[in-house]
Amino acid sequence: MKNISYRLKNMSFSKTLYMANIARNLINKGYKNIINLGIGEPDFNPPGFILHAAKKAIDDGYHKYSPISGYYDLRETICKKFKRDNGLNYNPSQIVVSTGVKQSIINVFLSILNSDDEVIIPAPYWVSYYEMVKLCEAKPVIIHTDRKTNFKVTAIQLEKSINSKTRAFIFSSPSNPSGCVYSKSELKSLAKILSKHQNIVIVSDEIYEHICYISHASIASITDVYGQTITINGISKAFSMTGWRIGYIGAPEWIAQACEKVQGQMTSGANSISQRATIAALAGSMKSMIVSLKKRRNLVLEFIDKIPGFQSNIPNGTFYVFPDVSNLLHRNISGTFIKNSDDLAMILLEKIKVLTIGGSSFGKEKHLRISYAMSKSKLLEAFRRIKNLLYVNKLKK
Ligand code: PMP
Repeated sequence: MKNISYRLKNMSFSKTLYMANIARNLINKGYKNIINLGIGEPDFNPPGFILHAAKKAIDDGYHKYSPISGYYDLRETICKKFKRDNGLNYNPSQIVVSTGVKQSIINVFLSILNSDDEVIIPAPYWVSYYEMVKLCEAKPVIIHTDRKTNFKVTAIQLEKSINSKTRAFIFSSPSNPSGCVYSKSELKSLAKILSKHQNIVIVSDEIYEHICYISHASIASITDVYGQTITINGISKAFSMTGWRIGYIGAPEWIAQACEKVQGQMTSGANSISQRATIAALAGSMKSMIVSLKKRRNLVLEFIDKIPGFQSNIPNGTFYVFPDVSNLLHRNISGTFIKNSDDLAMILLEKIKVLTIGGSSFGKEKHLRISYAMSKSKLLEAFRRIKNLLYVNKLKK
C-alpha cells in the first residue's frame, strides 16, 4: 500500500534542503546565531518597477489561466531579450515560459529522453540535473573537471564521452556551484564537437547570465549548433525573484511544441501575475546588485586565502565559491573524524553554526559550496568562526 514508485526510490533528497532543515531544527532548539551560507538566492529585493508591474497586473484583472506557453507579448519580449543580450534570433513560437527554470529543464528532458539514453553532465553540476535525468530513466554520464581547467570541460573530454546513446549535453555557464564561465572560444571548441552530432541536444542553462563578472556568451550564438541548442533562462537570480517562479526556453520549434505538450498536461501556463511582471523585468536590470556581489566575491576570496586547507579557483560568476577542502579531510576536527566534505559541512554547522554544503551533491566530493549571498558583516563573522575552529584544531595556513 505504502510503496512509493521505483522512480522516486531511486531519487536522492536535496542535500541543500536537508542542511537547511538541520539549521532550522537548531534554530528551533534556541540557536539563533546560525549563518546560512548554503543559500541559493540573492539577498536583495526586486526593483520597484517590477513590483509595480505585478500590482498593475492584479488591478488589470490577470486572474485567469494564461496561454500554455506564456502570454504572446511576454514571448515577444523574451525574443527581444535574446536578441539584445545574446545575439540570438528566436520567434515567439520557439519560446515556452514555465514555472521556473527547474520546470523548463524537466519539460525538455521529458520531451527528448527515452530510457537508456545518455546525458552528458560536467561535474561539478547543479544537483537537479542528475536527478531529473534519472527520473526520465535515462543515464547521467559524468565528465569530471577540476581546478586546473577552472572546472570547465574540454573538447577532448567531451568527444570521449559521446557515443551512439548520447542524447543530450547539459551545462550551466556561469556554473552553479563552481562559478566558472565559458568564454566564446571555449564554447566554440565544444560546439565544434557537438555540431558533428546533430542528434545531441545541447541544454544551455544560463540562469546566472547576469550574475557574471566577465563577458557572457551563449552557445546557441555559434551558428553550427543553433539548431540543436535549447537556451534556458529565468528571473530567479537575475532579478532576485526566486519565489515568482518564471523560467523560459528558446528552442527549435519541435522542442518548444513538445514542451508545450508536457506543460499542457502538467501545470498549464505559468503564474499570470509573474508573467506580466517578467515583461517589465526583462526591460531592465539589477546592476547595483551585481556590483555588490562582485565586491563580496572579492572579499570572500581574500578570506579563503587565509583559511588553512581551503583552496579556491576564481569564480567569475554566480554567488558561490567552491573551494577544494581535501587537505581538511581524513583527519580529526574537534574530536570527529572527517571522512568527506559532507562531514566537514556538518562539523561547521554543529560546532560553529555556519551552514555550507558538501560537494558530493554536486558530484565533487572534496569541495564545499559556500554562498556569499549574505551581508558583509555575516560573511566576516562566518569566516572568523571557520578560521578559529581550524586554528583551535592546530590547522595553519
Ligand atoms: N539552474 C541552476 C544552475 C540553478 O542554480 C537553479 C536554482 N538554484 C535553477 C536552475 C532553478 O531555477 P528556478 O528558480 O528558475 O527554478
